[in-house]
Amino acid sequence: MLPTLSQRISQLQPSPTVALNTKAKELADQGHKIINFSVGEPDFPTPEPIVKAAIKALEAGKTRYGGAGGGLPLRKAICEKLLKENELTYTPEQIVVGIGAKEILFHLSLALLNPGDEVLIPAPYWVSYTEHVIAAGGTPIVIPMPADHKAPRLTKEMIAPYLTAKTKAIVITSPSNPGGYVIPPNEVKALGDYLADKNIWILSDEIYEYMSFDGPSISMATLCPAVRDRFILINGFSKGFAMTGWRVGYMAGPKPVADLVRTLQTQSSTCLPPFVEEGALEALRHGRQLMADKMVILQERRDLAVSILKKFPELDMLPPNGAFYIFIDLRKVLAKSALYTNDNSLDFSKKLLETYHVAMVPGEAFGAPGFIRLSYAVHEDTLKEGLSRLGDALVAIGGIRN
Ligand code: PMP
Ligand code: GLU
Repeated sequence: MLPTLSQRISQLQPSPTVALNTKAKELADQGHKIINFSVGEPDFPTPEPIVKAAIKALEAGKTRYGGAGGGLPLRKAICEKLLKENELTYTPEQIVVGIGAKEILFHLSLALLNPGDEVLIPAPYWVSYTEHVIAAGGTPIVIPMPADHKAPRLTKEMIAPYLTAKTKAIVITSPSNPGGYVIPPNEVKALGDYLADKNIWILSDEIYEYMSFDGPSISMATLCPAVRDRFILINGFSKGFAMTGWRVGYMAGPKPVADLVRTLQTQSSTCLPPFVEEGALEALRHGRQLMADKMVILQERRDLAVSILKKFPELDMLPPNGAFYIFIDLRKVLAKSALYTNDNSLDFSKKLLETYHVAMVPGEAFGAPGFIRLSYAVHEDTLKEGLSRLGDALVAIGGIRN
């Protein structure tokens, strides 16, 4: 018999987004023509100046350990970005750069939580938040989606019943994954005003900041300075600069938090690869302008996907105005089919992959059974072909009319 494993870590679910992407890639390697709408990553190549900067750094011998939490030039550049683009003043000691926003968020859970601490996570939520909290010994408390999913509001009335003496933090994601929507500035401000006198950490995941199509996505810290002392901003380069494989993300927040997150990094991944840092620095030299044309392309793809999906009146969806997701409500369609119940998008997504070779993440992964997530950051022809196969699958299960 083997010695036992960690009880706490054994409770964790593997990331469903990563697992589905891996399965889709395996099927493609076996020769199937898979349409992969699963993983959240732009299909654009990383912009050339960024790639060149990293190559130059490699050739110059920047291949040794870097400084923990990111070198000073990169942390300074992040401060400049936050000032220029977000009107937020931070000092480099308040910034920690890590191996993706995912590592930063994981380390934040470890740094902030004691056993039994509760973290409020509004559904639909990104798959890793709950597992990070569990890994750190905390308890994720999911705030359910509003019944009227067409108005995906996060209001103080929704939060209030879940606030307890054990509440330690709340996670807010805008633009949202998987929702694909942006909380409008007046609502961000109202939330900030409400949270300002609550003694909890506010984790604001702004990784899709540049993907806000019907008006800007504005940080709660910008709109509501009163939250600043307990506000932790999380952002990264994966989405905004098409750098998913480079693994660079950061936090900006109170110095004691930054210190602890940096300590964790010294005891885990040590540092960012220094040539990757040079790529990230180059991205910041250009700023959001570097990707402006790509954001227009994403918006066109959003419009195309919405126009195709609207041909099926049985389908509902959250209003997609940010990130690159559409969170499709299949509940009515599944309920009509004799094969599924309205809260089972998991089995439908398996069928969709195995029979129709389309990979989409089921809502169960995001705390919203009966939904399915479309990641539309793919070529338009792929989008058309994949959505046509989705339509075929929905007709075949008897959920929609031909
Ligand atoms: N937050 C959200 C909402 C995400 O969708 C992702 C996607 N991976 C991340 C954080 C982490 O991104 P990364 O680790 O690639 O920086
Ligand atoms: N965030 C992306 C997604 O939701 C990438 C995969 C992951 O890290 O979860 O698909």
